[in-house]
Amino acid sequence: MIFLFSIGFLEIEMLDIIDILLVTVLLYQLYKLLTGSVALKIFLGLLSIYLLYLVVRAAGMELLSIILGQFMGVGVLAAIILFQPEIRRFLLLIGKTTAFNNDRFFRSFPWRREQTDKLSLTPFIEAAKSLAGKNTGALIVFTKSSELKYYAESGDLIDAVISKRLLVSIFNKNSPLHDGAVIISGNRIKAARCILPVSENQEIPASMGLRHRAAIGLTEITDSVVLVVSEETGQIALVRNGEVYRNLSSSDLRVKLNQFLFDTDQRTSTATAAPEKSVSAA
Ligand code: ATP
Ligand code: MG
Repeated sequence: MIFLFSIGFLEIEMLDIIDILLVTVLLYQLYKLLTGSVALKIFLGLLSIYLLYLVVRAAGMELLSIILGQFMGVGVLAAIILFQPEIRRFLLLIGKTTAFNNDRFFRSFPWRREQTDKLSLTPFIEAAKSLAGKNTGALIVFTKSSELKYYAESGDLIDAVISKRLLVSIFNKNSPLHDGAVIISGNRIKAARCILPVSENQEIPASMGLRHRAAIGLTEITDSVVLVVSEETGQIALVRNGEVYRNLSSSDLRVKLNQFLFDTDQRTSTATAAPEKSVSAA
């Protein structure tokens, strides 16, 4: 091992530094995940019980330490059950940031490039414009590295060719499919009426209801991009990484979609007013 320096009797090696850095990153991600959620309070509750257990045991109070000891015995199992949604989100977050899941990595394969580059944005832009004009709400998920099968299966599977007319009819207020989200994957409309995870972020402004919260929630844990048309205001928004880009014009929408889905930076071509970007998560 590469020896670096020593503090007293403690010898610090390169591996120790890497170890500490990794633990720091892990703890920071955990902190980010837990802040503002109920899980933090549960975690603090469990921690206080553990501290109480240590004190009681040190003081020699047998009965209480047996009771608390029993509780601690099942602590790991209880924590897994209690923190199930957080553990899930944490693992998804790790999966989302690994190199294997990186879109650029996958797009280096020819078959993958073909799949993503062929997606025509025009039906979405025209549908969004038409829906926004009629104040009809819409929620469209563009999948990237993951097909989001789990969420697609929460709704009705469609697997249809993408068209403006189909999108508009799905979100028509009289359509039985209009509730929930449409998921787009591999150039197909995979499913409609899908239920997305709602963000627990408490900093999201009250003006954003469940539709926006669901879009934020999904993009916090996956690399997907979500298009939201507001029923209340008729505004078009795009959500990525838990950040909402609101009040987009059709041309803004095209530029942003190109940028978010295909990594093509066309920002210089828009002379229009910069869309308002309201940061939520992070
Ligand atoms: P709008 O600006 O359109 O009013 P909003 O952000 O204020 O949007 P709501 O008014 O609460 O949101 O929108 C409710 C609609 O959002 C529901 O009818 C449903 O279609 C959709 N929705 C709510 N929760 C979810 C969810 N978890 N997953 C998918 N869609 C959802
Ligand atoms: Mg609303």
